Amino acid sequence: MIICRSVAEVRAARAGLAPPVGFVPTMGALHAGHESLVARACGECASVIASVYVNPLQFGPQEDFANYPRAFDADAALLEKLGTTVLFGPGDGEMYPAGRECTVDPGDLGVRLEGQRRPGHFRGVATVVLKLLNMTQPNRAYFGRKDAQQLAIVARMIADFNLPVEIVACATVRERDGLAISSRNRYLSQTERHDAAGLSRALKFIVQTLEGGASDVGAVMRAATAELGELRKDYLEVVDPNEFTPLSAVSRGSQLLAVGAVFAGTTRLIDNMELQTPQ
Ligand code: AMP
Repeated sequence: MIICRSVAEVRAARAGLAPPVGFVPTMGALHAGHESLVARACGECASVIASVYVNPLQFGPQEDFANYPRAFDADAALLEKLGTTVLFGPGDGEMYPAGRECTVDPGDLGVRLEGQRRPGHFRGVATVVLKLLNMTQPNRAYFGRKDAQQLAIVARMIADFNLPVEIVACATVRERDGLAISSRNRYLSQTERHDAAGLSRALKFIVQTLEGGASDVGAVMRAATAELGELRKDYLEVVDPNEFTPLSAVSRGSQLLAVGAVFAGTTRLIDNMELQTPQ
């Protein structure tokens, strides 16, 4: 595995890679969710570039940028074991040299739900993803469904800016009790970790109830909120998977997404599940 720290290095490495080239962008502190993306990319592509970069632009001033878990050496060892061809781990000076001004405006989708709670977050995500795609020039880029709104924004950016890359959406990897695996789960105390499974329970309840034909979305959401137990709800909604506008009624035969964000203590967790209402 080649480790690149600069844009010049990764461009030089990219020039020598056999196509198709897969790309997996991450913020590191790798876990089984990331592992599934990298393994899939390695299975489908002749060469795989993975990036590890904690992107300051996507963190709000009150968020956990400084404390976000960093484990570069362990990440590099895991990526090498999985068969990654190139690891790109740029420093901040390399990604955002002084004088940088241009950013990507992700439009309305960027200010709904997660974007409303985390102002500027998706601008930061879209900007770093565009930069990384330009630096690594992959044929395919792998993203997790765990961050469904991020996936929708990246897909839209790729379409709107005519980027020559195919986006591959990968299933959410979960713990045995349903908790979606996340780098932030390591912040949880034992009690919070136990409570955290309530989010996937609530989402599963919404999926099962709406797939079972329930039509009173308000009542479904109230009952789902009860499943959250000790977790503090930020939002729990059912949305159109492309628009992320919360729905107060659902029509028959629709492909929808149940989405949620909660606090377990001070740790914020997000998750989502797909559902299909009956014909
Ligand atoms: P992050 O390091 O959190 O920025 O995540 C990097 C990529 O891994 C993103 O495309 C995430 O959606 C994806 N990812 C994170 N957690 C999971 C998970 N539990 N299952 C599948 N993909 C995930």
